[in-house]
Amino acid sequence: MLLLLRDISHSLYTVRISQPFMLATMTINHLIAYGMQVLQQAGVDTPRLDAELLLANVLGVGRAYLYAHPEEEVDAGVLQEWQRHLERRARREPLAYILGKAEFCGLEFTVTPDVLVPRPETEVLVEAAVARQPATIADIGTGSGCIAITVAVNLPQAQVWATDISEAALRVARENVERHGVAGRVRLLQGDLLQPLTGMRLDVIVSNPPYVAESERLSLQPEVREWEPSQALFAGDDPLQFHRRLAAEAHFHLREGGWLMVEVGLGQAEAVASLLEEAGYQQVRILNDLAGIGRVVEGRYR
Ligand code: SAM
Ligand code: GLN
Repeated sequence: MLLLLRDISHSLYTVRISQPFMLATMTINHLIAYGMQVLQQAGVDTPRLDAELLLANVLGVGRAYLYAHPEEEVDAGVLQEWQRHLERRARREPLAYILGKAEFCGLEFTVTPDVLVPRPETEVLVEAAVARQPATIADIGTGSGCIAITVAVNLPQAQVWATDISEAALRVARENVERHGVAGRVRLLQGDLLQPLTGMRLDVIVSNPPYVAESERLSLQPEVREWEPSQALFAGDDPLQFHRRLAAEAHFHLREGGWLMVEVGLGQAEAVASLLEEAGYQQVRILNDLAGIGRVVEGRYR
């Protein structure tokens, strides 16, 4: 069925997202207004921003272009593709999976549903790692590779090892390693936590492990709960199980004076700091993210 929408601001609420739509003259402004309403109704947090980013992506332009050309007409092909993107977003698929990319530390990464979408708060972990100027560093549970790769880009002399238990995630990381030209210095290894580092001693070990308790599943946004890999998020009944294992085992793979740095969830920082202290780490410190939440715990092994 083809719908003709003359007055976008009044008729849109009656349009179901599953119906194709068409306007005699659809301008960039019309589409953004329409998309915003659809996404708002679907419960998306940032409907305008997302409608704009999806449209900019389909048009192959930057977001600023939309503001500079509000009256530009959009052809039917663009309209159809944008409609498909909008439907996916209205089903709460993360924007990054629809766009196939996400920004992290100012770099662009390929992302697919096989990897966690890089989070801005994880940039704290990268800053902390880079500040230590390691010559050798491992990123445990690398996902898209965002931490390992930004460290490698920021420290051109560093040798980096990036591990994950998920082969599918490592395929995405491989693509990103090549995309950022660090394939010679970032080695990807598959295996359980620190097992791939057998026989190695490094300056720094970083990890953003799964730390969401199974009991929190229902409180997560649909984007996270229904679309991101469970293996990247959930730590079963003991949300600190990975931190516990890292605290107990990382020192076998650190040189003397090396640092362990881990990301933690809301309210976990103190408990993880205690885990590191009990395991013999010194100078244990909690670093806050931009929201003032304790986000990274670091400690020095002797
Ligand atoms: N480092 C990426 C980031 O910060 O965006 C991804 C972090 S995600 C929270 C956790 C990652 O750990 C996932 O890629 C998941 O596949 C991996 N993982 C889960 N269990 C693991 C295990 N036992 N050993 C190694 N990696 C594991
Ligand atoms: N920060 C993620 C979230 O928003 C969780 C990532 C993790 O478990 N390491 O749920």
